[in-house]
Amino acid sequence: MLALSLEKSFPGFRLAVALEVQEGEVLALLGPSGSGKSTLLRLIAGLLSPDKGFVRFRDQDLTPLPPERRGVGFLFQDYALFPHLTVAENLAFGLVEARWPKAAREDRVEELLRRMELTPHARKRPQELSGGEQQRVALARALAPRPRLLLLDEPLGALDLRLREELLLFLRRTLRAEGITTLVVTHDQEEAFLLAGRVAVMREGRLVQVGRPEEVYTRPQDAWTARFLGHKNLLSPEESQALGLPPKPHLLPPQALGLGGPLRGKVEERLFFGARVGLWVRAKGVRLYLEAPAGPEEGTEVGLHLDPKRAVAFGG
Ligand code: ADP
Ligand code: MG
Repeated sequence: MLALSLEKSFPGFRLAVALEVQEGEVLALLGPSGSGKSTLLRLIAGLLSPDKGFVRFRDQDLTPLPPERRGVGFLFQDYALFPHLTVAENLAFGLVEARWPKAAREDRVEELLRRMELTPHARKRPQELSGGEQQRVALARALAPRPRLLLLDEPLGALDLRLREELLLFLRRTLRAEGITTLVVTHDQEEAFLLAGRVAVMREGRLVQVGRPEEVYTRPQDAWTARFLGHKNLLSPEESQALGLPPKPHLLPPQALGLGGPLRGKVEERLFFGARVGLWVRAKGVRLYLEAPAGPEEGTEVGLHLDPKRAVAFGG
């Protein structure tokens, strides 16, 4: 198990986080830009020292150790590949450092090249590769020495949409196959939900909610978290009351609202996304958003069903 409790201050910013991650677990750190995600990862890697606190892994105190002695594999946005080394040499680098015997090194590099579909590029240098290929090399390099703990900072950042989707599924399979305890930072909720067994939402240097992806998404702990996760149906006490809910702020997650039912509404906006249609519907004076595989035209009267058991009440 990874256990940590860390504090670090910069002018105008303070991080204070306590967290436990189980062996083999993938935990995603999700938060807006500037919330302290990279700082937390750097503290765990030992690239930054905390003002206060500790990092323990499998009952070993990592806090006093320099980065190279922590057994931690990491992929940071600004840690580029070695430009003068080939792809295979980049992958072997950490293995040489860790004094792997030559035969074991060659086997491991070959295995990773194959798994990451990089075999045809083994002898190329990083600048001869596309962005997605480089990112795969960086990931393979982090995985190569079989780190006990893997830290990934926006591993799919700066990739175009198609590559991102491809690499996301690839990363998901790899993390599961390797069974390494992993912390992965992202600002993209879908990425976090797909990769991780648990997600931790970070805001202004603190963890505001930690839980399984479905739990966090369907029951965010406050309106800020709900909005950050992309929810649109945040109701004021008055709007809640108009829809038959108690007079408190509520969230209607997608599971709480659907087409077909007794609540009368009118489609004000219809957004065609391709695989789905987004509808802004006004019902009892409240603008509600829902998505469906297909949907009626703007101006159409529709019936909605609202499941009050799935509405989330916030304090206040
Ligand atoms: P994130 O990765 O979530 O975008 P960061 O951890 O990079 O956030 O940054 C969190 C805050 O700490 C920001 O306000 C940033 O400006 C500040 N910060 C990060 N690193 C340093 C540093 N080395 N010196 C001073 N301030 C820093
Ligand atoms: Mg960052």
